[in-house]
Amino acid sequence: MQPVTMDHLPTIAPDRLPELLRRMPKAELHIHIEGSLEPELIFQLARRNGVSLPYANVEELRKAYAFTNLQSFLDIYYAGASVLLKEQDFHDMAWAYLRRAQADNVLHAEIFFDPQTHTARGVSMETVVRGLHSACERARTELGVQASLILCFLRHLSEADAFETLEQALPLRDRFIGVGLDSSEVGHPPEKFARVFARCRELGLHIVAHAGEEGPPAYVWQALDILKAERIDHGVQSPKDPALVRRLAQDRIPLTVCPLSNLKLCVFPQLADHNLGRLLDAGLVATVNSDDPAYFGGYLNDNFIQTFAATGLTAPQAWQLARNSFEASFVDAAAKRRYVERLDAAFASFA
Ligand SMILES: [Zn+2]
Repeated sequence: MQPVTMDHLPTIAPDRLPELLRRMPKAELHIHIEGSLEPELIFQLARRNGVSLPYANVEELRKAYAFTNLQSFLDIYYAGASVLLKEQDFHDMAWAYLRRAQADNVLHAEIFFDPQTHTARGVSMETVVRGLHSACERARTELGVQASLILCFLRHLSEADAFETLEQALPLRDRFIGVGLDSSEVGHPPEKFARVFARCRELGLHIVAHAGEEGPPAYVWQALDILKAERIDHGVQSPKDPALVRRLAQDRIPLTVCPLSNLKLCVFPQLADHNLGRLLDAGLVATVNSDDPAYFGGYLNDNFIQTFAATGLTAPQAWQLARNSFEASFVDAAAKRRYVERLDAAFASFA
């Protein structure tokens, strides 16, 4: 898709901005399904499966969410995932997210999942993928939300573990569209997985990677040049390297930015300091996403509304971000056009 001007947009008063942000159609491209697991569902699944949790109740678990960096978050994230054992559990988790996505006017979601978090506990790849995939299928028919899955490798684990995970997933190849790289970034550069991603490219999988969240611009370069990532997840450290910004703009490499996650993990001291507006000003295909919404204080519309309120972004930038989300998705050109038409119609109805 080529960039188009925003000249045709109707004038929308600033006080109507939150309603516009809620109602505009959008895609979500950076959501870890395990990070959508709410404390209530964790306790429900724990009871159903007879799993004991190191927290007395929902409130105590919520209080434990006072983490301050990526590692302390990941520790509790893996503890929460321990209640997921059966195909139905994975279905229920994804279904809960997809219903929230529909409420936020998400038309299309590309959902990350972390199979190693589950296979390491003895849950089979098939249980994970079948449960998540059936929820995506159900969302298409019952909610009108399109959803696909992206398998993420945990970068704190070894290359051999990633290769084994890929091998386990291959019989289910038609149920996911791509692969990504997530978990603790610093100390685990993309180049560690060069050979795994080369194999994934041979298999025709889409490639994305977390880079430049807490890690340096060099990790973004590696994700682009070594892994051949089509999208960068986060990438907010990129402006530290002007040559990298030029590269991202020139190749229209999307960044899936997650403002409330960045705030919670202290990537920016305050939401008002977030560089989302500057990324757009630099001509980058930035998008807004929720990352791990149960843990970071909000789903997609919360991210939009709070970030716009804090940084003073405007209606034309809302349109650009929503348009970018469709452009950055892995659907075909005709589907992208149909999504953007719905976006334009939503803005026109607001005039
Ligand atoms: Zn993420």
